[in-house]
Amino acid sequence: MSRFVFVTGGVMSSLGKGIAASCIGALLKARNFTIKMKKLDPYINVDPGTMSPHKHGEVFVMEDGCEADLDFGHYERFTDITCSASDSITTGKIYEKVICKERQGDYLGSDIQVIPHITNEIKDFISFGCTEVDFTICEIGGTVGDIESFPYTEALRQLILEFGKERIICVHLSYLPFVKTAGELKTKPTQHSVKQLQSVGVQPDILLCRSEIEIPDDIKEKLAMFCNVKKANVVTALDAENIYLIPNQYHEEGLDKSIYEHFKIPAEDEQKINEKIKNKWESLVRLIRHPDKTVKVAVIGKYTKLQDAYISLTQAIMHGGFANEVKVDIDWINAEDEAEDIERQLRNTSGIIVPGGFSSRGIEGKIAAIKFARENSIPFLGICLGMQLAIIESCRNVAGITNATSREFSDEGELVIDFMESWAQGGGIQSRNPSEKKGGTMRLGRFECELVPDSLAHKVYGEYIISERHRHRYEVAYHKYRELIERAGIIVSGRSLDGQLVEMIERAGGHPWFLATQAHPEFKSRPCSPHPVFSEFVKCSCRLPG
Ligand code: GLN
Repeated sequence: MSRFVFVTGGVMSSLGKGIAASCIGALLKARNFTIKMKKLDPYINVDPGTMSPHKHGEVFVMEDGCEADLDFGHYERFTDITCSASDSITTGKIYEKVICKERQGDYLGSDIQVIPHITNEIKDFISFGCTEVDFTICEIGGTVGDIESFPYTEALRQLILEFGKERIICVHLSYLPFVKTAGELKTKPTQHSVKQLQSVGVQPDILLCRSEIEIPDDIKEKLAMFCNVKKANVVTALDAENIYLIPNQYHEEGLDKSIYEHFKIPAEDEQKINEKIKNKWESLVRLIRHPDKTVKVAVIGKYTKLQDAYISLTQAIMHGGFANEVKVDIDWINAEDEAEDIERQLRNTSGIIVPGGFSSRGIEGKIAAIKFARENSIPFLGICLGMQLAIIESCRNVAGITNATSREFSDEGELVIDFMESWAQGGGIQSRNPSEKKGGTMRLGRFECELVPDSLAHKVYGEYIISERHRHRYEVAYHKYRELIERAGIIVSGRSLDGQLVEMIERAGGHPWFLATQAHPEFKSRPCSPHPVFSEFVKCSCRLPG
């Protein structure tokens, strides 16, 4: 039966709870424990699929097609495990389940309440599958004290009562502001957030304190006393220049050792563990600190103001840099700028990426960037919408069909990208209609694809059959427009196994590196095993002066 590590957050959001939970997972895995990562999101949406990346950040897609919080991306990247739909819960999902049971008559005779009906569902979710692993790390989203968080902290309190602290540890991530005028770190916000937790019956065991400077001993002592934790369990979470420096940092601060001691796990050869953790992350750290050179690539997108909106993409590009021992600087270009402006901004760039996206806003800017990459032989990577637009661009500007477009933007013109009513999935046929509801109805999750021998795609992957994660509603209308697409100089180099769907395209001859995919390879890239699409894109971009 699993032990549980709960991660809560105090004071404010954006302190990096997801990264903290991921690092704990990574450190426990380094000690040869098997782990599961779960996230409990207090928002009322059923999943983040319908939320704007602008406000909430990227929607991460799992192998099984679950549209999940971006923290799952951190979990997978730091721990190398594959998460699934059963690891992600939201208030929306919990209520949906309870209401469904109520309609079926499962609670006949009772009135349904937050305690016990909602909290029981939360506890069932937490316990599900926990016999399979040594540790389950559960991150509770939001900030303690939020009205939406209450059922989750209450479920945690009940679990502590049921399982005892010998099976549960609570890690509370908090913040110590440094007040310049006073020249000191302030503990009061942390004290208050711990009080909030205590008021719902949960005592944190470890305080992970975000701080921009080292936490002096007397401050640790004060926090320990006022928050009722051992001083050794007040752990500094220093701001880091790169997130992959954090596992080592936590380890050096003794975070995993504190967890170990809490559960009274017999001490291991610490020397060996130190070496193992250092070896795993140190080579990355070296690359981060001393890259051979810097290369500049441009990403043309709509959500360029919020870094989290393209977090997996940013990480995958960085991993591509690791693979080539270079640092990649990303130039974020607003797709809504004028075409000439975009071209001007692209003049000093060594590679161009047009990422995934939705709706017609900004598409002309993205098309201008693709044209610039095509005409100036700049390495180009198109992802999902980026691939669809690469086809539209070639149809318009190479084949001269100026009204080529996608059903997503218009019902008129040559719809080279169109709505697909059915496709093969999991041995059966999935179908949908254009007017159906928006949530969870896209082509989602893992799909296999067959690559054309000796194509660029085949050279990049080094395999004929590959699989990638998807999240889109529209497809290339290849059967209808095959002749036009070929005339536009596009080669279809990857198709679904039944041959019906276009998965990858490239350009015929002359261009050094022009590849686009209907899928999202960024979701599968890992710092220690960068995705070949990104390694090869960065490799080719390094050949241009940037
Ligand atoms: N909007 C496009 C579609 O739904 C592409 C989606 C994406 O880029 N993820 O097909």
